[in-house]
Amino acid sequence: MTAIPLSRPSVDDEIKRAVEAVLDSRRYILGPECKAFEAELARYVGVEHAVLTSSGTAALWLALRALGVKAGDEILVPAHTAFPTVEAVCSVEATPVFVDVDAWYTADPTDMAAKITPRTVGVLPVHLYGQPCDLAGVGDLAVRYGLWLVEDCCQAHGAAWDGRRVGSFGRAAAFSFYPSKNLTVMGDGGVLVTSDDEIGARARRLRDHGRLNKDVHAEIGFNLRFNEIQAAVGRVLLRRLDRMNDRRRELAARYADRLAGLPLVLPSERPHARHVYHLYVVRTPRRAELATFLEARGIQTGIHYPVPGHRQPAVEHLAAESLPETERVVDEVLTLPISAGHTGAEIDEVARAVREFFGG
Ligand SMILES: *Cc1c(COP(=O)(O)O)cnc(C)c1O
Repeated sequence: MTAIPLSRPSVDDEIKRAVEAVLDSRRYILGPECKAFEAELARYVGVEHAVLTSSGTAALWLALRALGVKAGDEILVPAHTAFPTVEAVCSVEATPVFVDVDAWYTADPTDMAAKITPRTVGVLPVHLYGQPCDLAGVGDLAVRYGLWLVEDCCQAHGAAWDGRRVGSFGRAAAFSFYPSKNLTVMGDGGVLVTSDDEIGARARRLRDHGRLNKDVHAEIGFNLRFNEIQAAVGRVLLRRLDRMNDRRRELAARYADRLAGLPLVLPSERPHARHVYHLYVVRTPRRAELATFLEARGIQTGIHYPVPGHRQPAVEHLAAESLPETERVVDEVLTLPISAGHTGAEIDEVARAVREFFGG
């Protein structure tokens, strides 16, 4: 029985050669590969500065620290996200204020507006599953209330809004290079991007012990540096990112065609948005049964995410209120396999199995 994994990162000779060249160079941390990758990332996103760091979570933490977030500040975050979005807020001692989702699974600007208090300092929307959040609505709201906007782009490398790439809309943005993400470095990694000179400089300092130079430390940072081997891998894959995203979009269109007409909510691209299908997420009240049925056929599925932020044991004391849309979708979402490494035949096989499940 063929096994179809949720995602399949590619490894090839060009990547292996890039890694070997770094091994031979004997420069391993924050060297020329990192410098070049930062310049290429900044150009790709359309911003002035890129600061490589050890993970997407670290990039979010750097953004919040560089913005001067302090204890007691409130930050609006969607409850329907990967936990690190929430964790970064808590780790700078700010308070996450949970927001419900709109019809595209991203933060609802109307609910955001309703949750603003005198302590609110910023909004941290997530471009979930590879689809930009309502950047017009969220952007307007940030301007109207004088809040900063930080984009969590960890699932949306290369996604765009009105033709402009995500990561260039906020005061800062964070990307992750975790192996399943649209752009990876074959390990952990992340990057903060910004066009704000001060935020860029401060993030750069914070990722390396708050140091001004070899011996002098201006503030308490941490070791969140990046390494040369992974920068070299990232540079190869960044050159392929648009092609890999096009491939994901082709496979998503193939699913949409093969799954049409079933009692299943399929993902849709919102107006103004270019979706890059980090995940292909469908919705059905029969999720558990469908997942079991597919598993028996060697098809891996996932749930992103079964426990929303406001119901996580670590933070649920912060949020008594219910979020009806979020609570409904977390019980119904199911992720089907997709990545640039999947074949059309594999997508067809998954779709056939889903049709069979529904008796179609
Ligand atoms: C992956 C992810 C993160 C965290 O990135 P890491 O590199 O795993 O630390 C944060 N937010 C979202 C939405 C993610 O998907």
